[in-house]
Amino acid sequence: MLVAAAIFVGSHLVDRLVARGDSVIVVDNLFTGRKENVMHHFGNPNFEMIRHDVVEPILLEVDQIYHLACPASPVHYKYNPVKTIKTNVVGTLNMLGLAKRIGARFLLTSTSEVYGDPLQHPQVETYWGNVNPIGVRSCYDEGKRTAETLTMDYHRGANLEVRIARIFNTYGPRMCIDDGRVVSNFVAQALRKEPLTVYGDGKQTRSFQYVSDLVEGLMRLMEGDHIGPFNLGNPGEFTMLELAKVVQDTIDPNARIEFRENTQDDPHKRKPDITKAKEQLGWEPKIALRDGLPLMVTDFRKRIFGDQDSATT
Ligand code: NAD
Ligand code: UDP
Ligand code: UDP
Repeated sequence: MLVAAAIFVGSHLVDRLVARGDSVIVVDNLFTGRKENVMHHFGNPNFEMIRHDVVEPILLEVDQIYHLACPASPVHYKYNPVKTIKTNVVGTLNMLGLAKRIGARFLLTSTSEVYGDPLQHPQVETYWGNVNPIGVRSCYDEGKRTAETLTMDYHRGANLEVRIARIFNTYGPRMCIDDGRVVSNFVAQALRKEPLTVYGDGKQTRSFQYVSDLVEGLMRLMEGDHIGPFNLGNPGEFTMLELAKVVQDTIDPNARIEFRENTQDDPHKRKPDITKAKEQLGWEPKIALRDGLPLMVTDFRKRIFGDQDSATT
């Protein structure tokens, strides 16, 4: 089994795969990845990590490929947009070419961003989206849309077994502390006694999924009989101001809010319709934001303050 990209979602997936006895190879160029998140598997003969950029071809023998390689935070994917689109297009092409050569099943981690700034709410898989092709988010949105196209073309043209997940905002332990995504930002800011930075008027919405729910969905999708695409997300929808309130309630009721200018092309609302995943994969998320957030806070507290201080904070 090959997991391309290990480090936030991928590391939790690897834990589940290794725990059930699978042999796992991870490839990651460590762009946003932290080796620490998979280091506990080093020395396990069923685990191997290769520092590799998926934009370059690779020869391996595996039976399943989970293709997660791509920066997910807007700050990271906008940092080098050409690299982002190469990762999504050339990287996905290489993973598909590899899958074709060895007859492996291929799973693409696509995104809710393929719906762009959606005109349909909640978003159903049949909605084609409202994406700006020339905007600052396009390297990611259009990159993932092309990755979906490539995946379906390899399925139709080369008879490849494929699966497509459209993942909605996911949070949890091991996220990069300063990766710029809203949940990691708010949690780190509240712990450091800094103001929570709300972009725009804070009325835009997102739906936040705890990482273990996503991993369960990805594994069911890989093992199941359906190609997808499937929305994998938690339908619980929050404005950014509501999210800030949950963070205040969880960490520090006195945390201040500071409004900042919003970024360009920010989607106004986002919420998955998960009827298809419920019916065809028997999957639905189990962990609500108020239950998942404290688990992430424990991890962030340890990483920001160190183990010892966290005992007293
Ligand atoms: P992340 O940015 O935390 O991790 C991405 C991983 O990909 C890192 O380990 C990074 O080093 C690696 N990577 C990036 N470019 C690479 C390249 N060219 N070659 C090899 N490795 C490379 O992202 P994540 O949150 O773990 O997301 C995993 C996947 O799920 C991504 O494809 C992302 O687009 C998708 N996704 C995530 C979310 C979310 O909210 N977490 C939402 C939608 C889609
Ligand atoms: N590829 C790879 N590993 C393999 C097989 C293919 O990285 O084991 C890459 C290959 O370099 C190519 C891409 O996947 O760039 C697509 O391969 P495919 O065989 O589908 O297309 P072709 O090489 O014929 O263009
Ligand atoms: N956001 C915010 N404060 C932050 C970071 C992000 O208010 O410190 C907002 C951002 O404008 C967007 C939402 O939170 O409306 C989600 O942003 P994120 O980068 O987490 O993910 P996206 O869904 O945009 O990919």
